Amino acid sequence: MAALPTQPTIYDLSRGDIAAYLEGMPGYRVDQLWQGLYTDGVAVEDISTLPVKLRSELAEKLPPALAMELESISDRGDTVKWLWNLRGGAAIETVLMHYKDRSTVCISSQAGCAMACGFCATGQAGFDRHLTVGEIVEQVIRARRVAGDKRVSNIVFMGMGEPMANFDAVWESVERLHGDFGISARHLTISTVGLLPGIRLLAEAPLPVNLAVSLHAANDDLRNEMVPINKRYPIGDLLDACHEYFDKKGRRVSFEWALIDGVNDRDSDAHELAKLTHPLRAHVNLIPLNPTPGYLTQGTPPARVREFADLLTSLGVNATVRKNRGTDIDAACGQLRANSIAAEAAVTGSSGNTADSDGTVTNIKPPTTRSQR
Ligand code: SF4
Repeated sequence: MAALPTQPTIYDLSRGDIAAYLEGMPGYRVDQLWQGLYTDGVAVEDISTLPVKLRSELAEKLPPALAMELESISDRGDTVKWLWNLRGGAAIETVLMHYKDRSTVCISSQAGCAMACGFCATGQAGFDRHLTVGEIVEQVIRARRVAGDKRVSNIVFMGMGEPMANFDAVWESVERLHGDFGISARHLTISTVGLLPGIRLLAEAPLPVNLAVSLHAANDDLRNEMVPINKRYPIGDLLDACHEYFDKKGRRVSFEWALIDGVNDRDSDAHELAKLTHPLRAHVNLIPLNPTPGYLTQGTPPARVREFADLLTSLGVNATVRKNRGTDIDAACGQLRANSIAAEAAVTGSSGNTADSDGTVTNIKPPTTRSQR
């Protein structure tokens, strides 16, 4: 496991921390620095309202958290994905996606993930460490610099890691992104694979952000296999927590469903899913699984994706198919990192901590019959 860095980075500091750090200077310096960091989103060295000496001192004492290892551009510039190196040796991914009406940044909350979902490159590569507030917030700032005049309006915590397992840092980041970066709570989405204590904390938190639950299976037998944390927090309890969230926040919960060929794309799966989600008036996001090199499991073919979506709709479920972004640049969570580590291992001859080097890859087998198709 990588060690947490001891030196804070520039976005780790709250406004109060910055005021304390600049004690003895005119109060407007705090405003200038804060405006440069959040409103303008530029590097400290480029905050032209600050004296040059102060800029270089700040840059040395409070460095940026993210060093770019790779940048991949796809979908004619509409998808940009980064692999960042963190201090201490861990690596994370961030994705910027431009749509007709908005630009969204998908950010990581942990380096790696301990949840070990069987179809996920990040989960199979294991857990390195939690991210700090600065490491989370800086992902958005760096993405916005690249977005230029396309306004970043939506943030989703759907990158590497389980946000609820790093709740305090995630929540402080949410407050910073809402209060200082100006993202409305309705455009902030926290995803979870079903950590109930986190969902309950979120329900008590002051901002009505969106909750997205990575469900992927609608019965405990299949979900235990796909999402091991289900053994601790089974579907019945998870749905109870979702109902509580909906009642407290008045925000519709959404459910993510990675469609895997012959595993969770049968008619029976659609019927079970509809039964669970209909009472919540929940939205279901169908995500054809991105192809991941080295994994036997395949995404559902496009024609079947459409049939599955149509069946859900006919059952009264509000379902949409999410367009896969950047399949040519390893845009599924953890793929860029896994491929980078594998490439490095191939060069150095080391086995490394690759997604498929520790023997834990669980390629979920389709049931022997594809009944009710
Ligand atoms: S799907 Fe999400 S929760 Fe599961 S292992 Fe991957 S990153 Fe972790």
